[in-house]
This record gives sequence, C-alpha cells and structure tokens, in this order.
Amino acid sequence: MNSTLILDLIYLIGSVTFIMGLQMLSKPESARKGNLIAAVGMTIAILGTIFLRNSVAPVIYGLLFGAIAIGGIIGWMVAKKVKMTAMPQLVSLFNGMGGACAALISVIEFTPHIGNFKALITVMAGMVIGSVSFAGSMIAFLKLNGNMKKDLRLPMYNLINNLILLVILALACYVIYSASGTEHGEHLFRYALLTFALALFYGIMFVFPIGGADMPVVISLLNSFTGLAAAAGGFLYHNQVMLTGGIMVGSAGTLLTVAMCKGMNRSLTNVIFGAFGSGGATVTAGTGSPTGGSVKDISVSDTAILMNYCKKIIIVPGYGLAVAQAQHVMHELESLLEERGVDVKYAIHPVAGRMPGHMNVLLAESNVDYGKLVEMENINPEFETTDVVFVVGANDVVNPAAKTNPNSPIFGMPILEVEKAKSIIINKRSMNAGYAGIDNELFYNPKTSMLFGDAKKVITDLVAELKTM
Ligand code: NDP
Repeated sequence: MNSTLILDLIYLIGSVTFIMGLQMLSKPESARKGNLIAAVGMTIAILGTIFLRNSVAPVIYGLLFGAIAIGGIIGWMVAKKVKMTAMPQLVSLFNGMGGACAALISVIEFTPHIGNFKALITVMAGMVIGSVSFAGSMIAFLKLNGNMKKDLRLPMYNLINNLILLVILALACYVIYSASGTEHGEHLFRYALLTFALALFYGIMFVFPIGGADMPVVISLLNSFTGLAAAAGGFLYHNQVMLTGGIMVGSAGTLLTVAMCKGMNRSLTNVIFGAFGSGGATVTAGTGSPTGGSVKDISVSDTAILMNYCKKIIIVPGYGLAVAQAQHVMHELESLLEERGVDVKYAIHPVAGRMPGHMNVLLAESNVDYGKLVEMENINPEFETTDVVFVVGANDVVNPAAKTNPNSPIFGMPILEVEKAKSIIINKRSMNAGYAGIDNELFYNPKTSMLFGDAKKVITDLVAELKTM
C-alpha cells in the first residue's frame, strides 16, 4: 500500500471518529467517551500528516514535535486547573487559537497560490473568518474573565462595523481578482495583510459592544466561524479530515447559535448585523422593588418544614450553584426528599450558568438522574401544579422583567415561569444582580421567600435539618 492510500485511510478514520465523537457528545452519559474517541482519531490524523504527507528535514520534525509538546503541556495544565465556572473563558480561548491557526495558515499560503483563483478564494476566506474568530474570541475571553467590564459602544457602532465588514469583503475580492490573473502578484501580499489586519480589527469591534444575555450566542457563533475557517484550510490542502472537522464544527456551532437565538428570542440576522445587547435602559440592581414591595426572609428550618410536607418541588439551578460547588449536596437533598415521597425535578434553562449545557454538566457530575433534568419548554407548564420552587443561585433566567418590561435588557428572553408555583424559595447570598446586572421583581413577589447564604452552606444545613425530621 502506498503512503497516499494509507493517509487517505487515516483521514477516513479521523473523520469517522470525529463524527462519532460529536454524536456521543450530545448525551451526558457518553460525552466523555465521545471526546476521547474524537481525540484519538485526530491524533492518528495528525501523526499521519506529519509522517506520510511530505518528507521533511529532521530539524522540521524537531520543531513540529517541540511545538506540539509546548502547546500540549500548556493546554493540559490549563484544562486541568480551570474551575468549572471559568469554562466558558477557556472555550473562548481555545476557540480563538483555532481561528488564529486558520488565519496564519492563510497568510503563509497566500504567496504560493498566486495565480490560482480557486485556492485564493479559500486562502482569503480562511484569513478573514479565522482572524475575526481569533480577535472576537480574545475579547470574549477578556469579558468573561472579568478583565473588561464595560461594553464599549461607539455611536452608530452598527453602521461602523458593517462598513468595516464591507471594506474587508471588497478588499478580499480585489486581492483574489488581481492575484488570480497574474503569476507575479507578490506585491499584492501587502493588501492581503491589510485585509488580515482589518479582519482582526473587525473581530474586536464586533464583540466589544456585546454584553449581558447575548454573550453565549456570540461564543457559539465564533465557534462556528473557526469551523468554517478550518474547512477553508481543508479545501486548500485537499485534506478530508480538516474539511470534515471544520464543516462539523461550523454546522454544529451554527445550529447551536440558532437554538440559542430561539432561546433568547433573537433572530440570527439581528445577532449578526443587529443591535447586540442594546436592549435599552438597565435597572440598577439591589435598589429595592420598582413597584415598592418588600423582601421576605425564610430560615433554614422553616424551609425544611415546607419542603418536608409538600408533594412536588422543582429546583431551578443557576450560576450560583456552580460558584458554590453545591451540586453534590443538592443531589443529596433531592434524594432525601424523594425518600419522603416528594416528586423532585430540575428546571433547566438553556442559558443558565455561563456556558451552554452548564447545568447539565454540573448536575451530571453529582450523578443526578438525567431523566430529572427537564428543559424549559417542558417544565414551564408544570410550575402551576408545583408546591415549592427552589431557586438556587439563579437570577436572570427567572426574571419576569423578560416578559413584562420592554425597557429591560433581557426583554424577550424566554424564562422559567417560577412565579406560577404556589411558593418560591430563592437562595442567594445577597440582593445583588446576576449577569445582566438588573434587579429582579421576583424577589419582591408575595409568594417569594429569600433564603440568604452561600448555596453549599445553606443546602448542607437544609439536609441536616431534614434528617432530624
Ligand atoms: P445569574 O448570573 O443571573 O445569577 C446568578 C446568581 O447567583 C447571582 O445573582 C448571585 O447572587 C448568585 N450567587 C453567586 N454565588 C453564589 C453562591 N455561592 N451561593 C448562592 N448564590 C450565589 O445566573 P443565571 O444562571 O440565572 O443566568 C445566567 C446568565 O448568564 C444569563 O444572563 C445568561 O445570558 C448569561 N450567560 C450565560 C451563558 C451560557 O452559555 N449559559 C454564557 C454567558 C453568559 P448573590 O451574589 O447575591 O449571591
């Protein structure tokens, strides 16, 4: 068998394992295994490329494995150390690295492909999309990491951004047209570099104004950009595994973006060209009820009594559950209540926490039965027949302002309709706001009682109290 045939076979294995892995990632039970299978397939494809594609000088092998070792060790250490709550930043960072790779490949491949129209299209596409993805992901990383608090919005930023995008597209078209009609277009490289720089600038400008509830959509969108940029590289090198991987990441990212847009009541056009995060005036958090209501406290023992004597409880987990790392003790509480004949379910909002599927991952970690995690559309009709809703570290995803206040930045986002339950207990540490930075009228609802304190401490006390009953 010659090496080209072996390489084709290896790429086929890489593509199939990648598809299998992605498929397995859709279920928490098989996600870990799926990730491993895809990683093994990719490792085989990388090794095949290094050893079978071109024969290179030994020094190049040294450089390649040196770079792989440095990147691998850094990636391993960062992934090992990262806290669950900082996962979205890490995803952004890794995604940005993928975009940077695709863009740099395009920069390197521009000159060798002068005169080749088809190749230049993929080179420029990879350059533009990869740069936007890299720069945008870096800004998303800084924002999610808390290094960049303000959402910088220039006047008419939408117009400015769309103009920059038009200039980039026009310049890319000019470069492709001019460079494909000549064998000696080396001087056009500087225009390619200008396109590259402008695309980086656009990536920054694109994510700068975004804040609050739109962030998850942006991360997912940038993820699909990276996939598309990698697919462009696959076309260029006639590399099936790069093409398959890129297309899968691109389409999965796009599908997730569409699903999240639906979850947040935004159209995709509005996300790409529209007024990101410009939902109107924000309300200062913790300044009291806009309608003059007051907050009612509840003690751990009263909460335990209430829970012990009810038939149905829905738990609404949010970002605070992840911060407190209270998922294990939460599962203990759930088991204890079930032993006493209480029907317990978890209501999962699509953007609860700080990354898609955050609550599913967190609760899976503590072995909560997947059947108990109910998606928003299915759980909302159940609140009316629920005795107690226990909101743990969630805020924006239960904020009725999303339905009632057109001036709220989260207006239009579908929420968990907890106010329909007979009584609501909210656990958080203070009256502070959540991610969107706005007050929550739910805290002042006559049916609501606030159980203040760190989630882990409060639920541990609750479990201890219930055990005495
Ligand atoms: P929120 O960010 O709205 O609220 C979390 C609440 O948890 C805070 O109000 C905080 O109040 C409380 N909290 C923090 N630490 C603790 C603790 N140790 N114990 C108890 N409570 C605690 O979370 P939600 O999950 O409701 O909403 C998610 C938000 O994040 C949405 O706005 C969403 O758009 C956004 N987002 C989502 C992403 C995703 O993909 N899922 C990605 C990026 C953003 P206090 O300080 O008083 O304790």
